[in-house]
Amino acid sequence: MTKKELTCINCPLGCQLTVTYDENKLATNTLTLDDVDVQGNTCPRGLAYGKKEIVAPTRIVTSSIPVEGGCYAMASLKTAHDIPKGKIFPIMKEILATKATAPVKIGDVLIHDVADTGVDIVATRNVEKC
Ligand code: SF4
Repeated sequence: MTKKELTCINCPLGCQLTVTYDENKLATNTLTLDDVDVQGNTCPRGLAYGKKEIVAPTRIVTSSIPVEGGCYAMASLKTAHDIPKGKIFPIMKEILATKATAPVKIGDVLIHDVADTGVDIVATRNVEKC
């Protein structure tokens, strides 16, 4: 069995987790959430995080893009949902190649189905037209 130390990122407490799992099952894509043991979590969110971080790690990506004709030069954004951790680089590549045109409203879809993930990129800042 493989042991790995993780820090839970779900709250500022940052509990140190020890996760134990079968590396062979992970390598053959047969590892399930039930196969992963998590110790050191203070609450159920840490348990879920530790299991998911080994079996199918995901992240919310945040960034910003330029806005043409806006009162602010940039609009902040995020993925509307978690995306697979392995997709961060292709997602950032698409974000860096994107510009918006004012006005931009919080929740506007700036990129649809980013990097073929089925997840949209949405604005998290209003930028009025100037
Ligand atoms: S395990 Fe619970 S208490 Fe600990 S860092 Fe994660 S969310 Fe916070």
